[in-house]
Amino acid sequence: MQNNDEGEVNMANVSFFGLGNMGGPMAANLVNAGHSVMVFDLNKEAIADLVKQGATTAESVADLAKHADVIVSMLPAGKHVESLYLGEQGLIDSIKPNTLVIDSSTIDKPTVLKVANALAAKDVQFVDAPVSGGVAGAVAGTLSFMVGGDKADFERAQPLLTDMGKNIFHAGAHGAGQIAKVCNNMLLGILMAGTSEALQLGISNGLDAKTLSDIMLQSSGKNWTLERYNPCPGVLDNVPSSNNYSGGFMVDLMTKDLGLALDTAIDSQSATPMGALARSLFSLHAAQGYGTSDFSSIFKMFDHQNKK
Ligand code: NAD
Repeated sequence: MQNNDEGEVNMANVSFFGLGNMGGPMAANLVNAGHSVMVFDLNKEAIADLVKQGATTAESVADLAKHADVIVSMLPAGKHVESLYLGEQGLIDSIKPNTLVIDSSTIDKPTVLKVANALAAKDVQFVDAPVSGGVAGAVAGTLSFMVGGDKADFERAQPLLTDMGKNIFHAGAHGAGQIAKVCNNMLLGILMAGTSEALQLGISNGLDAKTLSDIMLQSSGKNWTLERYNPCPGVLDNVPSSNNYSGGFMVDLMTKDLGLALDTAIDSQSATPMGALARSLFSLHAAQGYGTSDFSSIFKMFDHQNKK
């Protein structure tokens, strides 16, 4: 990274892996902040889209590693992160010593520790930095980051994370960011299912969904899913429910996160009955063909008009 006259980091050579619903706009924000960003995704169209916005790309993963003093990854699950760094794609063989690796994917803590330890043996620093705020937060650059890793590495990551987000938290040692994230997403899954259930109860009893939402937003049922991500089509503009549940956060990814929460609960012998129920509901919903729809489509599961 380069420093300006005040000693602040103002420009980095970043290589960004994973340009999906979240990674695409996050990488675009790094380009817009003035960083030199090289991008890679298995999907060539996603690469082309970022190149149009000012990023560059390279033929090989090794070239992306050579370019970088910071690597950011935003992949679906732990197996993809392990494969990128340690497995088939073998990034670990090309990363320069003292590169900072920021993995923002939501993954399991054991994979975080495995990747962090393997990179540390090569003098490469790693932080887990999962995010909250959804696609809208990724586009607006207002994500919350929950960071696990050494304090010094957190401080090194902070300026770059500030170009993609607003609230940057140091949760603790490696893996602590992921634990914070699974706690948050377990609650999010419970709230989305509960909000859908309550809205459908009102609709089945003659209430207008927007009127009921307005009432609950001024009452004790107020929550983020109701206010910012309403699952009933037409109540809010620019949310997945008003766009046939496309874009946003896939049911398959929410099911994965609820599975991570349950694994974490089993490890620590914690009781998470609501999280277990939410996982069953989202798994059933995925099995009914909604895996790639946005997670707010769980609303349809409670639609009693759909019943035969
Ligand atoms: P996505 O499926 O839209 O994007 C993932 C991208 O990774 C895809 O473009 C895919 O082609 C690419 N990819 C997969 N394996 C790869 C590899 N080995 N090398 C390079 N690219 C690879 O998923 P998303 O919604 O962007 O989510 C990414 C992560 O962020 C997940 O862990 C998810 O749980 C988390 N997350 C998502 C949201 C959201 O609202 N979508 C919010 C917070 C956190």
